[in-house]
Order: sequence, then structure tokens, then C-alpha cells
Amino acid sequence: MKRPPKPPEPRSSFRERMLRLLAWYQGAQRDLPWRHTRDPYAILVAEVMLQQTQVSRVVPRYDQFLACFPTWHALADAPVADVIRAWEPLGYNRRAVRLHRLAQAAVHRWDGDLPHEPELLRCLEGIGPYTAAAVACFAFGAPVPVLDTNARRVLLRLFLGPAKAQERELRALAQEAVAALPEGQAPAWNQALMDLGATVCTSRKPLCPRCPLRADCRSALWMQRANERVAEARGPYRALRLKPFRGSSRYYRGRIVHQLRLLPPGESVALEELGTRVKTTFAVTELPWLYRLVATLEREGLARVEAASGLTLNSELGHVRVRLP
Ligand code: SF4
Repeated sequence: MKRPPKPPEPRSSFRERMLRLLAWYQGAQRDLPWRHTRDPYAILVAEVMLQQTQVSRVVPRYDQFLACFPTWHALADAPVADVIRAWEPLGYNRRAVRLHRLAQAAVHRWDGDLPHEPELLRCLEGIGPYTAAAVACFAFGAPVPVLDTNARRVLLRLFLGPAKAQERELRALAQEAVAALPEGQAPAWNQALMDLGATVCTSRKPLCPRCPLRADCRSALWMQRANERVAEARGPYRALRLKPFRGSSRYYRGRIVHQLRLLPPGESVALEELGTRVKTTFAVTELPWLYRLVATLEREGLARVEAASGLTLNSELGHVRVRLP
């Protein structure tokens, strides 16, 4: 791989570049529903939905979900089957179960009144470093970095240059940036990084000519060359090769949960019938394969299998029934 050119020294100071990004954000920020609230519950719901799902798919579902479960208590008290139903069509359904468990833990531990410190938030199972920082910053205004993939990319390209940075270096830079912010600007700063990364400094084809920070960006020159030969670009900006989704286990797991959602509350479906609903070419010889999938879903809290454990024969599997938990 050809080494990236040595990045030019920026003409503005670190702080000047930060203020320019904040100024850009004032006029260009995305209007997203979870940015109109400081309610930690609503912010946490958004963060969980945004894990592995695009913003455009989350927006229409977000308000509907909050209308069904407006508070920690409402979510904690709801049957998990209702939460799984309300999660459709976001996918990665395990998140619905995780969020439900998280609500029960938040109610049990703090009566739904979350602490402000990221370290304490992380005591709850299901809240990792990123989510804890997002809730602490966007709900409580804590001056902490919130590093999603977009924010990381912008920090890296803008301040460090095209070479691969160590995680420690990136974290130190992110800390330095929030420490240098005017008071109360941490939420806007973190959202500015995210928005620039989502709309201008995108992963595969950054729009450097439209970028407000181009003159001082340590990667602009490199990105311009990389864009010119994007097809054969290598290294940190190489396009991801996505695995085919259709026909994968995840594809069929999603279809199974979708079919279980369609059942009337409390009803179950025979395993073989379920097979014909999720796969048009389903054959009875595939019952063990299907059973393994529903058994995994049951372990993840997404299904309930009505049968004795340890079944293997097709004749035994014919008696198995499945439903939402
Ligand atoms: S100039 Fe290009 S690489 Fe630099 S921050 Fe802007 S979009 Fe990203």
C-alpha cells in the first residue's frame, strides 16, 4: 500500500478549528427527534435503536415506540412480547429484549432516576462506554466525548491525518477537545462531529470541497487523491465487502421473529408450519436446522419453545411449538 502523504500543518489553531465546526453545526445540524429532549430515557431508547440501524429507519419508529412505552416504568412493566412487537421493523431484535431488561434494572436500581455519571450508568447491563457517554452528555450535559463511528472518523481525519491512529491517541484527542470547549457546548460539539461525519466527511466518499474545515484538514489532500481512484483505494478508507444477508442465519432469524409477531398474543405455531412461513422451499428434513434457530432465539429471550429439550428426531420435532416469550 502506498503511504499517505505527510499531512500539511493546519493554518488555524486547534481551538479555532473546533469553533469553526461548532459554527457550521449551528446552520447545518440535522433535525432529529431525540435532539428535542433531555429525557435520559428517550435518549437511551434512541441510542439503542441507532445501534446497527440507519437514522432514516429509526426516525419513523422512534416516536411510535415512545408513544407505546413513554417511561422507564411503562417499558419495565410491559410484557416482553409487546416490546418485541413494537420493535418491528428495526431488526436486530435482541436489542428489544436488552432494552426491556435494562428498563427493569433501571427501575429496580434507581426507580428510573438515572445517575449522571457515565461510570455509574455502566453498572447497568446493556450500557457500554459509548451509550453511557451519550446519555451523560445529551441528557445531563456532561463534558465527555461521545465517539460513534462518524465522530471518530472526523476527529481522525481532521486533526490527526490519514495515517491509522492508535485508540489511545484518538481518545486523548477527544478528551482534549471537550476540555477546550466553551461551557455547555459538549452536546453540540459531539453532535457536530456526528453530523459532519454523516453528511460531509462520509466513510467512502467524503465531500471535501463542501467541507467547512477543508482549509485546515490534515486529510483533505489525501482524501482528494483517494476519491480520484476510489475503486482501487486501499488502507484505512477501503470499501467494506458486505456478506450476503439474504439466506443467512440472521435473515431467517429475523423472518422467524416476524412470523411470531404476527401471531395473536399468547398463541404458538407448530415448528413445521413456522418453517413453511419463513422459507418457501422448506422441507421437513430442515426441521433440525429450524429448531436450532428457534433454540438460539429462545436463549436470547426472543422466542419461547414449547417442547422438552434435547429433541433431535424429525418425528419429535414435529410436536414442537413456538411463540413469543
Ligand atoms: S476536508 Fe474532507 S476529510 Fe477533512 S474533515 Fe472535511 S470532509 Fe473530512
